[in-house]
Amino acid sequence: MAGPPPVTVRRRPTVAELAAGLKSGDRAALARAITLIESTHPDHRKEAHALLQLVLSGTGQAHRIGITGVPGVGKSTAIEAFGCYLTARGHRVAVLAVDPSSSRSGGSILGDKTRMEQLSADPNAFIRPSPSAGTLGGVARATRETMLLCEAAGYDVILVETVGVGQSETVVAQMVDVFLVLMLPGAGDELQGLKKGILELADVIAVNKADGDNLLRAESAARSYRSALHIMTPSASVWQPEVLCMSAVTGNGLDKLWDTLQAHHQALDANGELTEKRQKQRLRWMWAMVESRLQEELRAHPRVRGMMAELERAVHDGDLNPSTASDQILNAFRVED
Ligand code: GDP
Repeated sequence: MAGPPPVTVRRRPTVAELAAGLKSGDRAALARAITLIESTHPDHRKEAHALLQLVLSGTGQAHRIGITGVPGVGKSTAIEAFGCYLTARGHRVAVLAVDPSSSRSGGSILGDKTRMEQLSADPNAFIRPSPSAGTLGGVARATRETMLLCEAAGYDVILVETVGVGQSETVVAQMVDVFLVLMLPGAGDELQGLKKGILELADVIAVNKADGDNLLRAESAARSYRSALHIMTPSASVWQPEVLCMSAVTGNGLDKLWDTLQAHHQALDANGELTEKRQKQRLRWMWAMVESRLQEELRAHPRVRGMMAELERAVHDGDLNPSTASDQILNAFRVED
């Protein structure tokens, strides 16, 4: 007679178990590891740090690609098409998102699995919606660490999508090797409405929806972007930004897109720029985290909190100069208890 079914003890996996699960490519372990690094609970942060350190040697081998574009440009359609294109060629693709608006609106408009039905069913793809960690800094931290976990789990292409609200493009550009900007056909209006600075961030511009009636308009848009890029000061890099046309719906241009992204990677890798870029990114991230944590600690400090209202009032009303007030705040923070 069969005995009672075995009782499964649901205990949290240890950091070492998570690391081992990750390295073996176990998706459940990856999902749990991401939940851990998304948590802001101090105990979880400690475990997350230990986990990241354990898997560190298995990270860094992926091609990290940032993608942005206005809503409606075709980001999710393009990521689905491009992701499937890559998995069909033997790649393992992780899709992450940075959407700081998701915590405010209560729902992420990026990385939503329902938007990428085919890719989310693909065993060689992993899609994770934007963390809802609140601030852009918090979301970016979690996404960057998630990228490292995905690399440790063997994903060799990481696509990081951003909706481009405020500073999020810059933040994504600072965590990837290459930044792809999707544009719509119809250059005249598009160039007018271009967010300041986006062309400076772009390594590759792809004019999407280059199909059907839009084909000629897409080509003319591509020409406008080429000349706009041309008049910009050339960067010191070995890479000059490229402009191409594509259609996420027909798949035309995906070959060219992948070739271009690879050419970028090879060019930067060949002269050491890629290594240098990542070194700089890591240092920048470290200091960004120091600064944001210092600020959190400062604002949470009991003595600082106690004096904040009165100091803010005095500075606001012009009774106290901001320099003196800032001295007082920092002194209150520095004094040992
Ligand atoms: P997102 O907001 O940037 O993620 O844009 P979506 O991927 O949701 O696409 C917005 C709309 O554009 C949808 O109706 C898509 O079907 C359509 N679309 C996306 N890519 C293409 C394309 O290459 N060609 C055409 N004709 N339509 C596209």
